[in-house]
Amino acid sequence: MKNRWMIILIFFVIITSSLFIAFKSGDFRAFDDKNSLILNASEFSPDMSAYNFSESGLKSNSYSIEIPKESLVDLDGSHYHIIINRLSDNAHSVYFNDVLIGRNGDFQNGDSNLWNGIFRYPISSNLITDHNTLRIDTIATYRSGLSTQSVYITALDELYTTVGKIRFYGESINAMMIGFIFFSSLITMFFYLINGRADTKYLYASIATLLTGIYYSDYLVYGFIGFPYFTYKKYIIASLFIGVGFYSHVIGSYFSNKTIRWFGNITFAAILMMTIFAPDMVIFKQLYTYGYFLILINVLTWLWVSLKNIRKRFVAFIFSIGFMVIGIYGGITILMDVFGGYFQFNSPVFYISVFSSIPLLLVYEAIHEKELLLVREKDLREKEFINSMTDSLTNTWNQRYMSMIFNDRLGHYSLALIDIDNFKGVNDTYGHLAGDFIIVGISKILSSSVSEGDIICRYGGDEFVVILKDKGIDESLKIFEDLRRTIEAFQFDYDKESINVTISMGLVEEKGSHSVEYVFNCADELLYKAKANGKNEISTRFDFSGL
Ligand code: GH3
Ligand code: MG
Repeated sequence: MKNRWMIILIFFVIITSSLFIAFKSGDFRAFDDKNSLILNASEFSPDMSAYNFSESGLKSNSYSIEIPKESLVDLDGSHYHIIINRLSDNAHSVYFNDVLIGRNGDFQNGDSNLWNGIFRYPISSNLITDHNTLRIDTIATYRSGLSTQSVYITALDELYTTVGKIRFYGESINAMMIGFIFFSSLITMFFYLINGRADTKYLYASIATLLTGIYYSDYLVYGFIGFPYFTYKKYIIASLFIGVGFYSHVIGSYFSNKTIRWFGNITFAAILMMTIFAPDMVIFKQLYTYGYFLILINVLTWLWVSLKNIRKRFVAFIFSIGFMVIGIYGGITILMDVFGGYFQFNSPVFYISVFSSIPLLLVYEAIHEKELLLVREKDLREKEFINSMTDSLTNTWNQRYMSMIFNDRLGHYSLALIDIDNFKGVNDTYGHLAGDFIIVGISKILSSSVSEGDIICRYGGDEFVVILKDKGIDESLKIFEDLRRTIEAFQFDYDKESINVTISMGLVEEKGSHSVEYVFNCADELLYKAKANGKNEISTRFDFSGL
């Protein structure tokens, strides 16, 4: 139970911190005052707002804007920088008054991945004249322009630090989280293997997580990829779709739901068709943008089945929260993508943390279930053990228990062996059931006369062993004398008959050096003496000269 609260807490922290990180990764509010010059995409010529191509081909664009001197010199600070966030082109060069001030990506073939990067290039104050032109030349394969609407020029040191922070929350944490998702995939694979490859669910979860990690590495910035961008994007998008398909199999198999597994298969088929038949990047982009709906549907089926099982399984509760937030967050992103909006922040940490939690939670649950099983088995074995040592009539220990402790040394104690006098006669006169009633009655009187930690054992038919811990002969003789008298005076009312019985005892004090068996034998001899002496009495070591 404690573990569950810990997990809920961890999950809550993960979700809130990833939302916080996502927000921080796009938090340009510090620029929205007079300390920076905000150049809106639409003020560029041509308009630099992001758009998707309708035809394929490597396209060059040259976006420029005039900047009067006053708007620059009015800025606080003296070291000018231009900050470009999420320019969706494959490569860009930035010119200030026709002087190159920054450049990134592969201009030859567009084999680079910069779309999620934040770039900062210095503008030397020497370059500033009365009339200035900022020009951004780009090449793109399927989408061009600014997804975030604004380019900033700033001269204030604090704002460079802000960019550093934004890059930390965006690029650095993304890289860290991608490492984490691979780690989570490895753990799951490891669990699958040590589990004797018994459950393919864990194999699928490991593969799904690995592929999700590959997909999210699209959020990292690569100046040069090393192979054609279209091929790269096919791997990236295929990783997402196949990963989601595998997750559907994992979740479908976890909740025994065939429909969800079918959605997984449809997703496999969809990405297969897309990657085989998309002739170019532009059509591929159109296809997978709509394909995202399929992913959303998969996530919604996971949410549906998790909600259905929310009362039955703890993991379903966690999944429900994760998938619900993913559904909302993802749904908005997809709609924005389709209808041409944008997210100022675009950090995938939120998705990553939910996706990497799925296999870890499953592994946790599997280990937890095994642990529960072990505990239950141990409990059962303990109960069986105790049962085998317990007398069924009186619920006291039995002879087997005595045999078990016969070789032990129990320290200081007194041991009494008690036998009911002339019990055969009781059975003969009142019947066996009356005899049983008296045996139970005597065991109850015994239990009420001893302290916690003392031992009562029904050794044989009408014979009990009582061990009083840490009690010497004087103290125990008093207790047992009281007991003898109590029983002597007690009326066992059974079936309209009032029966009286007496008991005899052999009582021995043990100081620690002998085994229980030895002490028991002494008590047995003393009991014999008490019986021989006329019964209804206690015979102790003192009056037994033979010991
Ligand atoms: P003594 O005073 O010498 O002990 O005489 P006794 O008749 O009690 O003889 P002993 O202790 O040797 O015999 C025990 C008798 O207890 C034998 C049997 O009839 C009876 N007995 C043993 N187990 C049970 C039982 O579970 N229920 C009943 N009702 N009687 C039992
Ligand atoms: Mg007897």
